[in-house]
Amino acid sequence: MSPLDHGRSAELLEARRLATIVEAAEDAIFSKDLEGTILSWNPAAARIYGFSAAEAVGHPVQMLLPPDRPDEVTRILARLAAGEHVEHFETKRVRKDGSVIDVSLTISPLLDAEGTVVGAATIARDITRQKETDRRIRELAAIVENSRDAIVTRDRERVVITWNDAAERLFGYTRDEVVGQPIELMALEAEDRPAELEEALRRAERGEEATPFEVTFRAKDGTLIPASVALSPVYGEENRIFGVAGVIRDLRETRRLEEQLRQSQKLEAIGSLAGGIAHDFNNLLTVICAASDVALADVDDPRVRERIEQIDSAARLAAALTAQLLAFSRQQVLRPESLDLNDTVVSTVQMLDRLIGERVSIVTELASSLWPVHLDRTQVQQVIMNLAVNARDAMPDGGSLSVRTENVMLDETYVATHFEVEPGPHVLLEITDSGTGMDEETKRRLFDPFFTTKEAGTGLGLATVYGIVRQSGGQIFVYSEPGRGTSFKLFFPRATEGAAAAAPAAPEKRETTKIRGGTILLVEDNALIRELVTAVLQEAGYTVLVAEHGEEALAVAEQTPSIDLVLTDIVMPRMDGRQLAEHLLARDPAMRIIFTSGYPASAGIRKDIDTRGVSFVQKPYGAHDLLACIDAAFARPSPG
Ligand code: ADP
Ligand code: MG
Repeated sequence: MSPLDHGRSAELLEARRLATIVEAAEDAIFSKDLEGTILSWNPAAARIYGFSAAEAVGHPVQMLLPPDRPDEVTRILARLAAGEHVEHFETKRVRKDGSVIDVSLTISPLLDAEGTVVGAATIARDITRQKETDRRIRELAAIVENSRDAIVTRDRERVVITWNDAAERLFGYTRDEVVGQPIELMALEAEDRPAELEEALRRAERGEEATPFEVTFRAKDGTLIPASVALSPVYGEENRIFGVAGVIRDLRETRRLEEQLRQSQKLEAIGSLAGGIAHDFNNLLTVICAASDVALADVDDPRVRERIEQIDSAARLAAALTAQLLAFSRQQVLRPESLDLNDTVVSTVQMLDRLIGERVSIVTELASSLWPVHLDRTQVQQVIMNLAVNARDAMPDGGSLSVRTENVMLDETYVATHFEVEPGPHVLLEITDSGTGMDEETKRRLFDPFFTTKEAGTGLGLATVYGIVRQSGGQIFVYSEPGRGTSFKLFFPRATEGAAAAAPAAPEKRETTKIRGGTILLVEDNALIRELVTAVLQEAGYTVLVAEHGEEALAVAEQTPSIDLVLTDIVMPRMDGRQLAEHLLARDPAMRIIFTSGYPASAGIRKDIDTRGVSFVQKPYGAHDLLACIDAAFARPSPG
């Protein structure tokens, strides 16, 4: 064989080898001339594009172009003609069946013997699947990133592999600080149950799914974070577990709501207990007050009079305490009216000046056009005073007390994070001091009756505030830290039109020297109170008939048509006060009736008060209160 032949056959061999590679390649390999006419077409091209070699060769490559990029081939060919290469150019192509695929193109110029570009060879890779996978991965990554829960994965060597945004926020470590580091560096170990966490991690590494459990972590800044942790194995290639993923949910908010619920339930329970005790005390105090009133009228010895006066004033102090307990247990008689909280704040702050001393400066910040609220003015004053006095006590070296009002719309987010508030328009009353602040223990207990940290404290100030606010349909929140001062936020619902009509205020007149006359039927099941009240009434000039319960009272009333007024307890055996009044009013709609009770007037009784001219005196009452109420009843047109 001549050397030339030898060269030829070597070339031939080489060409055949190349042809085999092209035939067997997974990527589409084809060539075209400068017009775009297809010159060659390998089996992979047929598979990827759907056109057989016979259908492709001799046809324009433009048939592969999607309608939205008709001149792409022309531009590519122009670049090739200028000697450029095109590598890994990602674009779209249309298959024979019309479906669109993603391809990555690498295109090289075809040169003739003189080195002139006469066409192009294309290697096209179908990257549709890969693109789809990329998109899925991006979606999953977005889900992980946007998760409100911290999502963290570590490999078997305990090195952190992923750390999402929520993990950054929760633990305070950035991704850069953490990824690639052993997890121990972050001290991300359970504070309270390290053994359980370790065990759960090991189970996850063995491929066992575990139910979420709760542990406390410590964030970078030292904050303790109660969290629920769900661990699951992460599978890699060949289904081998290469690590563990943890979904970590911050439970602080949940815990706070649970705590609020517990707190409110506790106060509810103490409230009904305190209310019951206060009720019994009121009966006893009624006896003491009335007895000392009667005794005073009978006694001339000044030393004995002085003793009795001491008894009387001690009983009145005790009555003031039970009144506070009743306030706390939300069993007080409220006289709500539509009012502008700013007015009440201004008038109360004037009184505060004296109470609080010169070392504390009072700043008021009152919103203009404040919405009206439906509240008992005197009670609101009491609330502000109690909070202000506490603020004063917390600032022994002086400081500042700010009283602020504002219209606020409570939205769903606020409602969701605060216990027992309704969404909607509210008026905020905020009282802030720059005093000592409170620790957690004090904050947990501050509304409890008799909880005090002061030597001479009663522990009833905030209990009263709480009761009044809650009975008024409001809510109270406290924000305080040791050394940082304290802020109480009180929210009251904006008054609606219907509530604007103010309840009439009770007559405040107190006359004792008046000459009285008339017949009063006293209905009371407690013998001691019965005797004492009889004495008080007789002393005042009335003729008194008595009955122990409603039935007896009805019988007495049958026989005595001259009764001018019925004074009846509400809670009694046999027939209660309301049933009695029902019967009496049926007979004589103008009959004067006064209810008394240690409990505040219920809704039903308030309705009677409004619609039927019935009056109400709350126990314990002194002779003055009772007589004033009777006078007021007599001042109305007489019955019959
Ligand atoms: P008292 O004032 O009789 O102690 P309170 O019910 O008014 O009872 O308050 C209960 C406790 O709450 C106080 O003893 C005090 O420890 C704490 N406290 C209330 N208000 C404040 C405040 N503004 N700053 C700091 N601590 C307060
Ligand atoms: Mg107090």
